[in-house]
Amino acid sequence: MTRALHWFRDDLRLADNPALLAAAGDGPVLCLYILDEGGNRRSLGGASRWWLSRSLKALAAALEEKGGALILMRGDPLTILPALVESARIARVTWTRRYDAASVALDKALKETLTRAGIEVQSFNGSLLNEPWEVTSKAGQPMKVFTPYWRAARERGEPARPLPAPRTIERLALPDSAAGETLALADLRLEPRRPDWAGGLREAWTPGEAGAGARLESFIGSGLSGYAEDRNRPDRESTSRLSPHLRFGEIGPRQIWHALAMARQGGEAAGSDTDAEKFLSELGWREFSYHLLFHNPDLASRNYDSRFDAFPWHDDPEAQRRWQRGQTGIPLVDAGLRELWTTGWMHNRVRMVVASFLIKHLLQDWRAGEAWFWDTLVDADPANNAASWQWVAGSGADAAPYFRIFNPVTQGETWDPKGAYVRRWVPELAKLPPGLIHQPWKASAAMLREAGIDPGKSYPQPMVDLGLGRQRALDAFAAIKGS
Ligand SMILES: Cc1cc2nc3c(=O)[nH]c(=O)nc-3n(C[C@H](O)[C@H](O)[C@H](O)COP(=O)(O)OP(=O)(O)OC[C@H]3O[C@@H](n4cnc5c(N)ncnc54)[C@H](O)[C@@H]3O)c2cc1C
Repeated sequence: MTRALHWFRDDLRLADNPALLAAAGDGPVLCLYILDEGGNRRSLGGASRWWLSRSLKALAAALEEKGGALILMRGDPLTILPALVESARIARVTWTRRYDAASVALDKALKETLTRAGIEVQSFNGSLLNEPWEVTSKAGQPMKVFTPYWRAARERGEPARPLPAPRTIERLALPDSAAGETLALADLRLEPRRPDWAGGLREAWTPGEAGAGARLESFIGSGLSGYAEDRNRPDRESTSRLSPHLRFGEIGPRQIWHALAMARQGGEAAGSDTDAEKFLSELGWREFSYHLLFHNPDLASRNYDSRFDAFPWHDDPEAQRRWQRGQTGIPLVDAGLRELWTTGWMHNRVRMVVASFLIKHLLQDWRAGEAWFWDTLVDADPANNAASWQWVAGSGADAAPYFRIFNPVTQGETWDPKGAYVRRWVPELAKLPPGLIHQPWKASAAMLREAGIDPGKSYPQPMVDLGLGRQRALDAFAAIKGS
């Protein structure tokens, strides 16, 4: 019989959790979550803290159903874990690996300390199809371009089958000396209070493993139909919305992969093979982002392409504030940022458009946008967020070239043709016809009056002329191109 401790981090689930299974295999388990707000780790943003709170609540209930209990603590794991392991006479510690530099360093230090104390430490891959170091070029080097990366990943074959949840979890009682360190969920103060801005998040999401499973099932059963094309349509619920569940490890990619494969075999998956392959390749982008993060630890703070170090950014806090609030006067951009503010999520196509607008039309450093997304997204992810911002900026690996500047009007007309998405999130424009809703500045005075719009008062004038802004961005890029 082994007394074990499973340290939950970004793996807030029971099924397909190899580290939890290894802990629960042959004896009582102490299930622990530590809110780590200091050290070198980047603190979670507000929306992620809300999600975490709900997810921990769901996890605690699921563990109790199996006989276990979730213990919550706050502080530095490097201090907490060795002391707890000693006082609770733990023989084995398990965790699921993380890949950001600070976590890798922390895990390494802990492993050394615990192993020196005679404790068995086991870490597992529970959040990726392939470890970041497993996919390499033929010469054994990290990959820089997505298509060959994904081809090489696919050539490694099917990912391992997901594991079941432990049948039961025997609860390991905390010694009195440690019991005083434990906290109730409310003590972690993860949810906003004054003001409580999380109403829209509560309406939109069901954090936790059960919520993740339900979303996957309904996506495979119906949502996947037409995904390859419709995934670009923000006016339709056309993507899985699994991203925050994946971020917090309430579901793992192996589970998604095999659930889809089984449904396809059984003829129960909606959509075509093209839809399914496209969806899998999006999981591939997530894998590629982790590959990039692992090999470029400062992906969120340093240009992957160092030519961008000389880029003449305009540091304009007022412009950034208008962008954050969805008050730019460009309807699709404002709709996206308001969707983000209300629900903690934004459609991928619109993420690209708002990011391009901030970086290129407003010439603001991509790191300002990355930080805002980090604070407001429920799926704020150390790899996906950094890699995607750099991708849009043109400074990343396999990035969109800098001269590819999204035109938010054309994007709106193509992907939100009737303007339903803008109408939903920018209701002050709701009465404009589809031909004008993406460019209200083209409406006649009579039409604006009829639609109840007072330009500059009920809805802002565009903060930049799109044509001039585009030219200014191209000129700025020309300045660094040869460097
Ligand atoms: C500027 C910018 C910032 C972004 N920040 C994040 C972030 O912080 N966290 C995050 O998870 N995604 C981020 N993305 C990627 C993408 O927008 C979201 O993953 C996607 O919109 C989530 O919705 P979904 O779950 O319905 O996606 P689906 O289309 O259903 O895709 C399934 C899963 O694949 C992964 N995925 C999809 N697209 C991408 C992508 N382009 N890059 C990496 N993984 C992808 C996600 O895990 C997603 O849940 C960002 C994109 C941009 C342009």
